[in-house]
Amino acid sequence: MCGVFGIENNENAAVMAFAGLITLQHRGEESAGISANGDGTTYNTYRSMGLVAHIFKERILNILSGKVAIGHVRYSTHSESTIINAQPFVYNCIHGTIAVAHNGNITNFEQIKNRLAKSGSIFNHTSDTEIVAHLLAENTGKTFGQIMKKAVQCLQGAFSLVLIQGNKLIGARDSFGFRPLVLGKVGKSYVLSSETSAIYAVGGNFIRDVKPGEIIVIEKGKIIESLQLAQKEKEKLCIFEQVYFSRPDSILRDRSIRDARVEMGKYLARQMKHIKADIVVPVPDTGIFSAKGFSMHSGIVMQTGFIRNHYVGRSFIKPSQKMREITAKLKLFPIRDVINGKRIVLIDDSLVRGTTAQKIVITLRNAGAKEIHFALSSPAVISPCFYGIDTPNKSKLIAAVKSVEEIREFLNVDTLTFLDINNMKKACGNGDVNHFCSACFDGKYPSPIDRKKLLA
Ligand code: SF4
Repeated sequence: MCGVFGIENNENAAVMAFAGLITLQHRGEESAGISANGDGTTYNTYRSMGLVAHIFKERILNILSGKVAIGHVRYSTHSESTIINAQPFVYNCIHGTIAVAHNGNITNFEQIKNRLAKSGSIFNHTSDTEIVAHLLAENTGKTFGQIMKKAVQCLQGAFSLVLIQGNKLIGARDSFGFRPLVLGKVGKSYVLSSETSAIYAVGGNFIRDVKPGEIIVIEKGKIIESLQLAQKEKEKLCIFEQVYFSRPDSILRDRSIRDARVEMGKYLARQMKHIKADIVVPVPDTGIFSAKGFSMHSGIVMQTGFIRNHYVGRSFIKPSQKMREITAKLKLFPIRDVINGKRIVLIDDSLVRGTTAQKIVITLRNAGAKEIHFALSSPAVISPCFYGIDTPNKSKLIAAVKSVEEIREFLNVDTLTFLDINNMKKACGNGDVNHFCSACFDGKYPSPIDRKKLLA
């Protein structure tokens, strides 16, 4: 998962991109970068490993002059977590200089890369994003939108892209719309962002989603092109965005993430109406709104049972298992007075490997919890993601290899409840429950994937 942000027609484009990236930091903590275009030809770019606030000091932002800027925060799902793969990438080609930043995973990347390599293309990075630049270079058209359309139509999988070409800011989204991309406006500047919260953070207003399969070209405060990819698909927005990834103050497909999570909690409470408990305790931060919903529906009071250390980042998006485990250990501290002697409904967003949850349960038991009824505001994760979220392969997904009762025993909880998949979709959808990808919960992949990788 990554976050992308773009702004045009703005004297402070790089500073605005910085503010956007700070707001999108939860989508990737490994590296960040900003590329700004000064005069239509000169690109000022800075990329580094680490967090946005640590990378972009005032002296760095001062050299990123230009009226158009794009930014990227990265968490690696496809290639190594190194500076070489930090984005945006900048290339010189037949269409001038182009900067590109990408959220998603291109599933036919290897086939396309092999074809390009055979015809002489040289690659500087190991990331799938690089092929976008090569595909742009080998296509022509009357307008940049037409060139983009030809270039990306062979891509499979997930892509939400922001680019700069000259004074233009360009956005593109795959035909399924796996990853979000939204359009907003601040003053006379258009903004593209992974989430609406970053548009509001720069003082702008949300206008609309970039449509699945849409290529949008903006120049000097005007949308000059909006083209649609020929391949028409039913929208399949990643439902994990609602469950875990997006900020609760963001809006996806006209549905507030906060409201969706509260609703998930209410559905969980309906599923668990036979459970007797004293308090509802969320695993912060993503369990908070589902716990609120559970409490509202059940009448069981919600209590803050953990203090979260905000300096250790999100454990799900740490690149290695070792880092995830250390992070999980340092992240949550129980409040003993709240926990001791209580029957607890513990609410978290999802269960992937089970190792973090196991540690949380041990912490609660050590703090004196009498009963733990563990509830997940999503169904069991049974299949890996190939569209840009770093779920491990099937053998490491606890729900793919153990039954619910075996997981309950492994976690040492009194009861274990997963949100029913239909309830999750009802909570996340605005009436239409069919526009989501939920492949990691049901194994139904909307676009072709490599079956060998699935079975790995
Ligand atoms: S497989 Fe899961 S995580 Fe991946 S895009 Fe689909 S719903 Fe999202």
